[in-house]
Amino acid sequence: MKAVCMTVAVFTAVAVTAGAAWAAFTDNMYPTPYANLACVDEGSTPNGYLSCQTDNATLTYYMDSGGSNMLETVDRNRVNYVMEHVFEPTDLTVSLDSTPSFSGSAETDIVYEESGIGVPSGASGVTFCNDAADHLRCDQQYIRILGGGHYANGLICHETGHAVGLLHGDQASPVTSRRDERLGCMEDPVSDGEVLQDNNIDNINGTY
Ligand SMILES: [Zn+2]
Repeated sequence: MKAVCMTVAVFTAVAVTAGAAWAAFTDNMYPTPYANLACVDEGSTPNGYLSCQTDNATLTYYMDSGGSNMLETVDRNRVNYVMEHVFEPTDLTVSLDSTPSFSGSAETDIVYEESGIGVPSGASGVTFCNDAADHLRCDQQYIRILGGGHYANGLICHETGHAVGLLHGDQASPVTSRRDERLGCMEDPVSDGEVLQDNNIDNINGTY
């Protein structure tokens, strides 16, 4: 199964200082010249629902565990697997936050929900900032993925990538295809087994 992820296009003519100068073949870390609107809270105009960088290298996450948006055990196990085996090996320090914070200046960084609210038509998931820390960084981002088996490792990796600032190929600099295999799980559509691969890891480790 291939899962499609649609993020709101954020193209402007404003130049952004180039960030990546490592082995990465393209800079797909927000901001780029093709994704550089300021990080804002969800629903703010004109930016809408966007993801941006997380606020520091300590990445905490929580999975909704009650009510209509809770993750089933199978989904929770997949999120935990991806966080432990795909994101923890980067320069990020990843941990499950069993006592999540939803206010203040040190909120739990990523909140996973099983929900279709805000997921664009034709897509399987969405990631957006709930509380911007500054113009680049977000204190808390939400990941919503549809139920019915859509919580797959590849899409979890993809949306979590957005939650730490990674972009699709058509917003990378230089621009590449959204289907460029070198983008690993940030490829769109994404296959179940995709992981970060070198380009995404270089961009994460160069940022955090
Ligand atoms: Zn995406």
